[in-house]
Amino acid sequence: MNPRGVEISKAQRIADNGFISAIGNTPLIRLKKLSEETGCDILGKAEFQNPGGSVKDRAAYYVVKDAEERGLLKPGGTVVEGTAGNTGIGLAHVCRSKGYKLVIFMPNTQSQGKIDLLRLLGAEVYPVPAVAYDNPENYNHQATRYAEARENCVWTNQFDNTANRQAHIETTGPEIWAQTGGNIDAFTCGSGTAGTIAGCTRYLKDVSNGRVQCYVADPPGSVIYGYVQSHGAELGDRKGSSITEGIGQGRITENLKPDVELLDGALHISDAKSIEMVYRCLDEEGLYLGASSCLNVAAARDLALKLGPGKTVVTILCDGAYRYAERLFSKKWLHEKKLWESVPEGLRKYAVL
Ligand code: PMP
Repeated sequence: MNPRGVEISKAQRIADNGFISAIGNTPLIRLKKLSEETGCDILGKAEFQNPGGSVKDRAAYYVVKDAEERGLLKPGGTVVEGTAGNTGIGLAHVCRSKGYKLVIFMPNTQSQGKIDLLRLLGAEVYPVPAVAYDNPENYNHQATRYAEARENCVWTNQFDNTANRQAHIETTGPEIWAQTGGNIDAFTCGSGTAGTIAGCTRYLKDVSNGRVQCYVADPPGSVIYGYVQSHGAELGDRKGSSITEGIGQGRITENLKPDVELLDGALHISDAKSIEMVYRCLDEEGLYLGASSCLNVAAARDLALKLGPGKTVVTILCDGAYRYAERLFSKKWLHEKKLWESVPEGLRKYAVL
């Protein structure tokens, strides 16, 4: 048990409440080679081990639990969300296991593979025109209208619903603190909805009296780096784009707003660095990770070098590479994105697709 009463070990116990009780309590893996190289302990929280395959299982469970607790969702009800990514997958599992219907609105630019996966997990999927947020036909507004027009139907609104960051305040943060025995100097990860970075930062700052240094990691094309570095004075510019899926943002979400002041800074991580790490993590650690996880690992290395030897730096391994393999391990795609040169020469043998 840690101070907030969170059990830290699965210890072969039965997940007696089905899918949802198998969420969390993921291992904290020491990345041996990078730790050796930096003289620090670099630790990755293995969120790919969640039962739905990503860190987003935690937020999916919490937004549903919050709707239940607020009386907005009763047995037989419907959950609505606008996402084709890991939150949709997490919600599909949570909703199936709790007997709710799940409706997903998503831009019709998303791949058929994502639509098929959500449908086979039991979700009703509506691909809608990919228009900007200020257009009433934007998928977020369609999701809102759908929920408003129905009884016992809730739009979980992952970006601005702070039940999302609460998941990390109550579970991820306490697990990291307990697993390291409080021996943690720094934490870093990227931000999509910002639930993970904001929730972990809030908990780790509180429990350490501000001692743990917390940095948000940001890819090109996202406004967060500039926003944090200017202490909230201005949004960063949106120049450029990134291959990392699930992170980077064009605005400051309600999940991030309350905790921006707590952050010690931001780290800008290029796609070249993230891709290099995809291959290094596989080759050196046997970890098959998606690009956002590897952006996080690259940020943890930069932070370790910045802080100097002897520190413990923790980051998040968000999901596996399975859904992205056709890109990350395709020589043709890497050439198209001008990232082939970023794959260390000796590791190009892994690009077999
Ligand atoms: N990595 C991946 C692969 C994701 O799908 C997401 C969620 N968008 C994140 C990282 C970021 O997590 P959060 O929404 O908590 O900021």
